[in-house]
Amino acid sequence: MRLQTGLAVQTQGLGHTYHVDGEDVVALLDVQLTVGAGESVAILGPSGSGKSTLMTLLAGLRRPSSGRLYVGGDDIAQMTERELLRLRGQRVGVVVQNPSRNLLAYGTAEDNIRFAQSGAGRYRRTGLPDPDDLLAQLGLSELAGHQVGRMSGGEQQRLSVAMGMANSPGLLLADEPTSQLDSENRDRVVALLAKISLDFGTTVVAVTHDRSVAAALGRTITITAGRADDRDQQLDQYVTVTATGSVTLPEDVRNRLPPGSRLRVVRKSHGLELVADPPPSEADGA
Ligand code: ADP
Ligand code: MG
Repeated sequence: MRLQTGLAVQTQGLGHTYHVDGEDVVALLDVQLTVGAGESVAILGPSGSGKSTLMTLLAGLRRPSSGRLYVGGDDIAQMTERELLRLRGQRVGVVVQNPSRNLLAYGTAEDNIRFAQSGAGRYRRTGLPDPDDLLAQLGLSELAGHQVGRMSGGEQQRLSVAMGMANSPGLLLADEPTSQLDSENRDRVVALLAKISLDFGTTVVAVTHDRSVAAALGRTITITAGRADDRDQQLDQYVTVTATGSVTLPEDVRNRLPPGSRLRVVRKSHGLELVADPPPSEADGA
């Protein structure tokens, strides 16, 4: 099965204002985030904080009113309609909130995946995954021949995630993928999203207002009243030491520490700290 590599996402001062009946509704004010290729991230925030708006911008369904938004290095605000269409059809997969809106009720799981692939076919994409193979790789083979209308809510939601992967996107977006599920099905959907990022290297961004969903993904970014800044929200991350004593630093840390940077090893009674001293951003006068 041919897969795209994960797409990185970066926003700078991202904002979006809706214009309704002559009134301005500010949905996003200032969103600053960096998601590395292949990362899985939860966007956590209360209702009305702008989560769904952020997802439509990431999906290329709307253009931002202000700021910058890069998906896989390309600035979405600068794209033509044609380029946005291609982005949506080929590079980004979307799982919308209500599973029934993602699915054809009278079709089987395979029919639905083929249907999702038919849009991308307009751009003459070859090498799209065979529906059976895709379901097998996602651990959903038992759904293959089942009719959607006879599936449980949890099965429909897992199939919706598979539909999001039908065109082997580099970025998978899921808006509240567990909101209508009991805890067991919720855990299965979240495990599926985590598996997609780990096994396929697809970048996964999932919106939720459920902390337990957020905790199961790689990182959480909190959005409040249209504002988010993940530079203030970095939690401790783990890196593994190789046999030769080297470690691979997270991408955002690498961006701040050019090759040749020195880290100070501080030996403490209860462990070790690696300190970038002085912080590189201050050292170069920025
Ligand atoms: P969330 O998904 O976090 O609940 P939304 O992005 O849906 O937040 O909404 C953020 C704000 O934007 C809210 O004030 C909402 O009323 C408004 N909003 C969302 N969609 C639209 C729209 N299509 N037209 C006008 N206002 C909208
Ligand atoms: Mg929403």
